[in-house]
Amino acid sequence: MNRAALLAQLKASPKPWDIIIIGGGATGLGAALDAVTRGYRTLLVEQADFAQATSSRSTKLVHGGVRYLRQGSVSFVREALQERALLLHNAPHLVHPLPFLLPTQSWLSKYYYLTGIKLYDLLAGRFNFGTSTLLSKDEMMQCLPTINSSLISGGIRYFDGQFDDARLAINLAQTIAELGGVPLNYMRVLKLIHANNKVTGIVVRDLENNQEYEIQGKAIINATGVFVDTIRKMDVNNIEASIVPSQGSHIILDRSFFPGNEAMIIPETDDGRVLFTIPWHHRVLVGTTDIAIPNISMEPRPQQEEIEYLLEYAGKYLTKRPTRTDILSTFAGLRPLVKPKAAYKSTAALSRDYTIMESPTQLITVTGGKWTTYRKLGEETINTAARLVNLPFRPSETIHTHIHGWCEPFTSPSEWNFYGDDLKHVEQLASNDQTLINKLHPDLPCRGVDAIWAVRHEMAYNIEDVLARRTRCLFLGAAASIEIAPQVATLMAKELGKDKIWKERQVAAYTELAKGYFFHS
Ligand SMILES: Cc1cc2nc3c(=O)[nH]c(=O)nc-3n(C[C@H](O)[C@H](O)[C@H](O)COP(=O)(O)OP(=O)(O)OC[C@H]3O[C@@H](n4cnc5c(N)ncnc54)[C@H](O)[C@@H]3O)c2cc1C
Repeated sequence: MNRAALLAQLKASPKPWDIIIIGGGATGLGAALDAVTRGYRTLLVEQADFAQATSSRSTKLVHGGVRYLRQGSVSFVREALQERALLLHNAPHLVHPLPFLLPTQSWLSKYYYLTGIKLYDLLAGRFNFGTSTLLSKDEMMQCLPTINSSLISGGIRYFDGQFDDARLAINLAQTIAELGGVPLNYMRVLKLIHANNKVTGIVVRDLENNQEYEIQGKAIINATGVFVDTIRKMDVNNIEASIVPSQGSHIILDRSFFPGNEAMIIPETDDGRVLFTIPWHHRVLVGTTDIAIPNISMEPRPQQEEIEYLLEYAGKYLTKRPTRTDILSTFAGLRPLVKPKAAYKSTAALSRDYTIMESPTQLITVTGGKWTTYRKLGEETINTAARLVNLPFRPSETIHTHIHGWCEPFTSPSEWNFYGDDLKHVEQLASNDQTLINKLHPDLPCRGVDAIWAVRHEMAYNIEDVLARRTRCLFLGAAASIEIAPQVATLMAKELGKDKIWKERQVAAYTELAKGYFFHS
């Protein structure tokens, strides 16, 4: 995937695109993948990096969502469970089944939750990741050695999936490019073009060189997450808000707080949510929260109350009580929840389902949903687009489309298996220079070769692209990641032909960003 080549394809394309998608998160990439597999000429423009907004800040679960059963969303959960299996099938290098332990405090609660979990198994049917079982207190203590024993009398084990959200986004963009589509990062939509009361194109600015383009398309899709209403305002005046932004935050702790390879779900916190404690790389991820937020931004920050809530629950359930200075990184994402017509009590009670809207000018806006259902949402969006602008009907192929990096399961575990089929090429790249396979920091999964590979094949342009999304260093250890920023800058500058000033600016910008991800002692 090479930006210059993709840009050349854009410039050489006089005809209108069949489909133009605004937004390179899970939703936009899913729609673009669906469109290219049907043979439609497809352009995707993302104003920042792929998945830079919400889609790199999820809890990283491929799941039906046990908690939605309590809300009665049975068909929603069933669909997500089917999509969970498809994602494992099509991106096995990024998705794996993960056991979850649910601690219970009484005989009654144990059988109450078991009923829900058995329904979950049943809804998954042949797509199940593993059969749930009851566990005694002793068995729970063996699996979760640092759990506060006074809070449990037993538990339940069930199975869901874990994935790497940002890596999936990059691999999706690669798949789209390989199938003839044009996915471009750092391309901001400034305006929509209209003719005869229909939306017929976009005006975009290439943020790499400030050049502007007017691009025509038959169907224009607004997949900009919490920013959908900004694009809708470019389409028609006086729109009503279509989404409710809800913030969810996570904290990352050292694995000593929660050793072992199984995750824990606290099924009901005081505000009626669930809370996960999940092994992730060599760390543990605790999350998430759900709070209404008045202002949206590309870089939302966890609020004081969210951090306190996460620390309080982690401290309540774990024998080792974490404090703010134990937090290796903390990150927040904004859910673009569909605004209900009726009044609602809290954002936690709002549906996670998606919606597809058509404006009078034929702008298609798609919002809501989950990473897990990105494929299905993509398919339904392109069905809508094809019908609306009379594209020749072709069926979706994404059920069977392998995502870039697909490979047979690895026989030995490695930190770098997320590359999938690319792993051999990455190793080949480092074979001429052994220094490239040394980790840049002992606590972080990033080597020199990863930075070079990211620039050459994954359209990384900034240090943040490498340290936040091609590797996950920013999220795994923000302070440590600042230490390696200069080395990453040097490697990237050589690849991109940039000078000393670029390096200094990059390091300064990254340092400023990463400082917002941890608390100073
Ligand atoms: C805290 C949290 C935890 C979650 N956990 C899970 C989970 O474990 N499992 C799961 O399945 N789902 C999870 N989700 C849901 C999932 O992450 C989201 O549904 C999904 O990422 C939304 O993707 P999106 O593409 O709609 O939005 P985004 O990822 O926000 O993408 C929209 C993109 O549009 C771009 N854009 C905006 N304006 C413009 C413009 N003018 N020009 C060009 N581009 C523009 C933005 O830069 C952005 O990249 C979670 C969500 C949150 C917030």
